[in-house]
Amino acid sequence: MAKMLALTFDATQQDWDTSTGMVLAEVERPILDEGDERSVIVEVRYAGFCGTDRGIWSRRSMGDLVLGSLSEEGSTRRIFGHELLGTIVEVGREAERQYGYVPGDTVSTESHIVCGVCYQCRRGEQHVCANEKIIGVSMDGCFAEYVKLPARALWPTDLSRIRPEVAAVQEPFGNAVHACQATDLRGCNVVILGTGTIGLFAVLVAKGMGARQVIGIEPDPHHREQALRLGADHVLDPAPGDPERPWVADPALREVISDLTQGVGADVAMEMSGFNSSLNNALQITRRGGHVVLFGLKNGDVVVQDMHRVIMNGLQLHGVVGRRIFATWDMTRALLENTGNGIQSAIWEVILNRGQDSIVELASFDPTRFEDTMKRFTKPLLKMAG
Ligand SMILES: [Zn+2]
Ligand SMILES: [Zn+2]
Repeated sequence: MAKMLALTFDATQQDWDTSTGMVLAEVERPILDEGDERSVIVEVRYAGFCGTDRGIWSRRSMGDLVLGSLSEEGSTRRIFGHELLGTIVEVGREAERQYGYVPGDTVSTESHIVCGVCYQCRRGEQHVCANEKIIGVSMDGCFAEYVKLPARALWPTDLSRIRPEVAAVQEPFGNAVHACQATDLRGCNVVILGTGTIGLFAVLVAKGMGARQVIGIEPDPHHREQALRLGADHVLDPAPGDPERPWVADPALREVISDLTQGVGADVAMEMSGFNSSLNNALQITRRGGHVVLFGLKNGDVVVQDMHRVIMNGLQLHGVVGRRIFATWDMTRALLENTGNGIQSAIWEVILNRGQDSIVELASFDPTRFEDTMKRFTKPLLKMAG
């Protein structure tokens, strides 16, 4: 059996609850087996390190999905990673016949592998499939030299129009696109609460989609500076919360947003941090009849401050997950390939720092050094040998 390098968790070597990080291991290279007629083998060039992967790294999230899927498979080892750019090196018979893929094709992938037969899938709402699997969580992923993927999840990518490092982050960029399509942003005052990776992408997307003004709210000074470099009109620093009531909104923000919007308030607030106080900030700064897009994730209960206001102001709340398959990918491609909007170069220069120190070679992966990279960059990339 041919071998390859991969970032893994192995239940025979580690205990999920007491371990952290990912282990660089030599594992068997995937092959097209019986039943893989509709799959391909992709040689990975770049893989993006996601917020989900940070949750896995710290064991804050995904434990149930990882361990549950391993026991279903009768396996003990998971390869992580779900954002990629790679080259097809092997094609199942039906993957070629039905989808037209051939070795040498460049692809990214939708990370949610949907069932195609559940109620939502049959209604064309695959992004909320009842039986989805997630690459690199509930099936083996792309922090590896090779990955086996179903042809129907692949997204062909034209490297003459999108540089490979940016093409590797189409999937998370697509999260921001999907969030920004929850409601029409054209001509709107948009406030983005939390400018981590997806919030930073959302600054670019909201501008690219014609928002009148984009205002960030972000406690981290480095992320505030990045949001400004990406074109946010203002970025505000929220007051540190009350430790006794950490869910309470910052009343000063409402004043400032009101001033910046001629007394109206935000047309659209996009909550991308997952903090309870940020949710309440979003609800407080939004104008009557405005939209609140909820993307930030946190386990457990939250407190909604002044629920009365939500209803009496006719706020519209949208929970957003994943990407529309493949409508969001079409929009993602359009936004990235259109060099006139500056989005692609902004991602490369600001978020990926032109690749300087933000790209780590898989073969020389070191967990301690990588923790430092994770601190410095919202979106580190792994580079494979190929
Ligand atoms: Zn991701
Ligand atoms: Zn389904």
